Amino acid sequence: MSSPVTSPHERSKPKIAVLGSINMDLVIRCDRLPKPGETVAARSMTEVPGGKGANQAVAAARCGGAVQMIGRVGDDGFGQKLRNNLLQESIDCSAVLTAQGCESGLAIVSVENSGENAIIVIPGANARLSAEDIHRSESILAGCDVLMVQLETPQPTVLAGIQAAKRAGAKVILDPAPAATLAEELFDVDLICPNESEATAIVGGRLETIDDAAEIAKRLHAKGPAAVAITLGARGTMLYDGQTAELIESIKVDAVDTTAAGDAFAGAVAVRWAQTGSLRQAIQWANLAGALAASRAGAQPSLPTHQQIDSLSS
Ligand code: ADP
Repeated sequence: MSSPVTSPHERSKPKIAVLGSINMDLVIRCDRLPKPGETVAARSMTEVPGGKGANQAVAAARCGGAVQMIGRVGDDGFGQKLRNNLLQESIDCSAVLTAQGCESGLAIVSVENSGENAIIVIPGANARLSAEDIHRSESILAGCDVLMVQLETPQPTVLAGIQAAKRAGAKVILDPAPAATLAEELFDVDLICPNESEATAIVGGRLETIDDAAEIAKRLHAKGPAAVAITLGARGTMLYDGQTAELIESIKVDAVDTTAAGDAFAGAVAVRWAQTGSLRQAIQWANLAGALAASRAGAQPSLPTHQQIDSLSS
């Protein structure tokens, strides 16, 4: 009797560790943004869980990963809400520590009718995540298939995570966002996945054409990562593995809100790469995840499940 065809999700649930930020976004809607010194009345305020680390953890969990979050929240009312939000997504929070006497990471996002926004980020507890915290989480890093890191927690902490995961033989994916000057050692990863502006922030130059993207991917590769995937929005992703530069195209969608498209992409790459061992295949699938996120409003609410991604690819 032939066995039924199983999808990669049924075959294995890869262990994904995410070291990164956990924020509450306070989204304030107003008719127009206040000028300095001015007071305006808002129409509404909503609390939306966010932070690049948490978004990528949710993305990877919905894509079929067994996810462990490594981060810090504050001892304010938001801390418990943020933890509960991750737990609802079946994310293990045993390495989400509470920073005493410190507020949780916050982003105050003011949006006016025209769509123009102004954002103030308070790193809060995220800034307290230390290299010592990472050393205490070594057992998690020792057991994971992939570690995902971004740049919304202190760079020495991110570096401690990269080094511990590499010692344990896990793959490391660095999303160098938000754009920043990176310590050289941070490039010692298996995959770096910047968007266009983050890529040019690191190596300079202009990125307009696909040839530009290939050139910039090569320059990024020379800094040390084993592979480079520059996400190019609706155009897809430029993959350079040290030998071949290839544009892997995305699909056509009606883009509604591209917030968190990159987070959806990163979470999907981590899971599918661990499942298949093929980075190219992982990027093809992750493009679909990014496209789905771009076709929906919001950050975490827009992140797709593996069933939704699979239904697009079939
Ligand atoms: P970021 O959110 O970090 O700026 P991108 O906008 O480049 O990242 O999106 C990440 C990935 O999501 C892209 O590489 C692409 O595969 C997919 N994607 C994003 N926007 C669209 C879109 N409008 N149409 C199709 N795919 C998209």
